[in-house]
Amino acid sequence: MDQFRNAQEQLLISAAHADIDENILRILMEPQRVISVSIPVVLDNGNTKLFQGYRSQYNNARGPFKGGIRYHPDVTLSEVKALSMWMAWKCAVAELPFGGGKGGVIVDPKQLSNGELERLSRGYIRSIASFIGPDLDVPAPDVNTNSQIMAWMRDEYEKSVGKQAPAVITGKPVEFGGIHGREQATALGGIFVLQQALNVLKIREKTVAVQGIGNVGGHIAKLLEERDYKVVAVSDSKGAIYNPDGLKMAEVWDHKKKTGGVSGTIGSKMMSNDELLELPVSILIPSALENVINEDNANDINAEMVLEMANGPTNVKADTILHEKKIPVIPDILANSGGVCVSHSEWVQNREGSVWSLEKVNRLLGERMQRAFLDVHSFAQEKKITLRTAAQALAVQRVAHAIKLRGY
Ligand code: NAD
Repeated sequence: MDQFRNAQEQLLISAAHADIDENILRILMEPQRVISVSIPVVLDNGNTKLFQGYRSQYNNARGPFKGGIRYHPDVTLSEVKALSMWMAWKCAVAELPFGGGKGGVIVDPKQLSNGELERLSRGYIRSIASFIGPDLDVPAPDVNTNSQIMAWMRDEYEKSVGKQAPAVITGKPVEFGGIHGREQATALGGIFVLQQALNVLKIREKTVAVQGIGNVGGHIAKLLEERDYKVVAVSDSKGAIYNPDGLKMAEVWDHKKKTGGVSGTIGSKMMSNDELLELPVSILIPSALENVINEDNANDINAEMVLEMANGPTNVKADTILHEKKIPVIPDILANSGGVCVSHSEWVQNREGSVWSLEKVNRLLGERMQRAFLDVHSFAQEKKITLRTAAQALAVQRVAHAIKLRGY
């Protein structure tokens, strides 16, 4: 299903449980602004290639637009718009003074040299420079973008405006205005939420399958292993591996570094990404792309609960099926909001010209995630709705109130 239509449907479902004016709901059905750019990049062979990029600025009633930049061959405008809407909900659930935005470039970065990647990243940020800024729109990393890319982007933005502006972008390297703990913040935030959820849902087993061991999935698998969870399956874009006795993440990483993929790690059985999703584990953690749990496979999900670390991994139809199967889903806008919580800390740190300790960062992260979970859980109990609907309804209500207070 079209990504943005899916996000709009989710909005309508949750708005039914939120205190929201119909006119404000109409405003929330579309992004405030969508920027589409063509980025010419001189390749190493001297030819120029044109790349297509987007920035969707969904809503800024609660604060500057905030959201990552994705590099992927399958990026579409619809996907970027959906992701920008989810960012607004995510920031509102966590009570951050940010709105929602998202960027994307249609590119397979693995096909580019380091120099080409740098020229593309600088070109993208130059083309949207007049629409972003510390008080306007604050990008960050997402799929296939990292702290080095954020460093190039900050530098390019500063060249465009002719002054230092570290708070224009988050997820930077620590030596260049970044914050301690950002790399693992999304994963650690997910763990804070998971711990609360396991208590409430009374799930005692601790077997885990993680789809996609990139930044988010890789860190959560490692952090869970350190906390005595049994990570029985992980995957990357090339395939999945399974060991019912538990994988050793250090060995998986070694293998991936040597061969480029997790498949073939000694002591594990190979399987497809689809098979991983259907394993009988206590916690299934999709951490790759959206729409991987859909109407075609939702009936075959055998996990006791789903912790959505990816954005939008479950579509609306699958959500209904999982609800009927009594499989609780900790929704993305709650589970993976740790990244944007720490991005907010980085933004504050840059604006106050200071450097925060890791202890301070993680303490605040823990407090925010626990409070967000309890808010969502009690809203769900009160209204007798799922955690996803509750998280979204609560967020929609908060954004709608800000719009009303502004008086648009
Ligand atoms: P990443 O690029 O570091 O990792 C993505 C992982 O998914 C990689 O392991 C890749 O091999 C795997 N993958 C790609 N295509 C796949 C496929 N078809 N099937 C299975 N696996 C596949 O990206 P990331 O930053 O870890 O982001 C992952 C998800 O988490 C995305 O949905 C992103 O929007 C979301 N997210 C990221 C952050 C963050 O702080 N990075 C914050 C919130 C949400």
